[in-house]
Amino acid sequence: DFGLGSWPARRARISPGRPALVRDGRTLTHAGLADRVDRLAGALTRLGVRPGDRVAYLGVNDISVFETLFATARRGAVFVPLNYRLSGAEIRYMLEDSGASVLVHSPDADDLLAAAAPLPETLRHVVATNPASCPADGLDFEAELAAAGPAPETAVRLEDPCLLLYTSGTTGRPKAAVLTHGNLTWNTVNQLAHLDVLSTDKALCIAPLFHCVGLGQITLPTLFKGGSVEPVAKFDPGAILGRIGEAGITSFSAVPTMLEMMCRHESWDDTDLSSLTCVLYGGSPVAERVARAWLDRGVKLLQGYGMTEAAPGVTMATHDGTLDHPVAAGVPHFFTDVAALGPDLAPAPLGAEPAELLVRGPHVFGGYWDRPEESAASFVEDEWFRTGDVVRVEEDGWAHVVDRVKDLIISGGENVYPAEIEAVAARLDEVDSCAVVGVPDERWGEAGAAFVVLRPGARLDAAAFRAHLERHLARYKIPKHVQFTETLPRNATGKIRRVELRALATATFS
Ligand code: AMP
Ligand code: MG
Ligand code: MG
Repeated sequence: DFGLGSWPARRARISPGRPALVRDGRTLTHAGLADRVDRLAGALTRLGVRPGDRVAYLGVNDISVFETLFATARRGAVFVPLNYRLSGAEIRYMLEDSGASVLVHSPDADDLLAAAAPLPETLRHVVATNPASCPADGLDFEAELAAAGPAPETAVRLEDPCLLLYTSGTTGRPKAAVLTHGNLTWNTVNQLAHLDVLSTDKALCIAPLFHCVGLGQITLPTLFKGGSVEPVAKFDPGAILGRIGEAGITSFSAVPTMLEMMCRHESWDDTDLSSLTCVLYGGSPVAERVARAWLDRGVKLLQGYGMTEAAPGVTMATHDGTLDHPVAAGVPHFFTDVAALGPDLAPAPLGAEPAELLVRGPHVFGGYWDRPEESAASFVEDEWFRTGDVVRVEEDGWAHVVDRVKDLIISGGENVYPAEIEAVAARLDEVDSCAVVGVPDERWGEAGAAFVVLRPGARLDAAAFRAHLERHLARYKIPKHVQFTETLPRNATGKIRRVELRALATATFS
């Protein structure tokens, strides 16, 4: 077994006594983790889980998420972490779609689980991590673990599926990317080729573990290296800033909205950030002033660009280059090839001209769960994944994520990228955030509609907003409609829900 489930035991041979997972004063060493994972894999076996079966998890970041992930992998089964911010109906859909036979849940998910009823018949066991929230007919995590013997040996191969991750679903019916043990291992190798991770590192795990940023960017690489990971259940900018100074945190991975909330927090100026050796982020564009706020404090802030289907890293900023490229997505990972989608749907060289990005590498998935047609359609020449992102690469090799192909607005025959307008808008001090979407327009085919959220107490009218954009952008890029609003709809990883906004804009303006 060279799969992910063998990691804790392999790591325990090298650094048994070093901390692996830390939460609320509880510390689990690498040897302790290996022992619990082995017994939990035994418990899953007793519950009838066979290699290839799916084991779902519903709950906030916690030590038990890692234990269940590794134990499921050790059994040769497939881990399915679910987004606890979804509705009951969505959770039921994912349990049905994945056909999970076991669900592990933490107490914070009790209400959501009740809302997901009736649970599908394929789900045979529900295991509660906290006995207090264990229903009469449910199972208790600790009791199962205590009653189990070690797991039987399972010959897991690197090409076997390890993880089903539902894509964030800003469009359409959620589908799960199938990531193999090999995909996750090669992503870890790629991250470590870029980053200076040490066995003494202490990473905070802030981004949710049902998403690839939470799992792949720094968390798995840190555990692989023998460092420790501290799962954080709830994002509270003040508490996290406090914890960085108090625990000597060396690294964490975040989405841009988290970085922004932290650098705007009242305790920002007084927080000791000197222990941080790197802060990673990705998932959506960052505003330049946010990146600058962190870089100005001497923090090595590194942007990563990737996607669930690539487990997730595709490009990343380098330690040496981040200061000169504060908002760029860096260079391709070590074992990653990138290309542009050519006009004949074949891979072509990627350059300064924005083009849809293709990616291939041993970390790129082979397809979606139970979706043969969508899987086939997402590759060209069977090996290049179509990212759906428009990217350009400058002469120095640094990639810039321009926008998503689907978000492109074609106005009067010209390509307008909302992300470019949003970045210019964010430079205004009065603007908290802004999203631009296309609406049908009789004259131009499509026109831009900007939704603008102002900072508390700030004053700005549409004319002044437009005048600012006009100073920096070509006329055809200026949104025809401007609407001030209280908030923008976002998903759990901070991505703007553009489908929702487009519907609203179309209803309002066309
Ligand atoms: P997900 O599969 O949910 O991780 O979402 C992946 C998508 O997030 C990518 O296809 C991009 O559209 C977007 N994304 C990821 N990283 C970045 C980044 N650094 N800058 C801009 N967009 C990003
Ligand atoms: Mg993302
Ligand atoms: Mg995607």
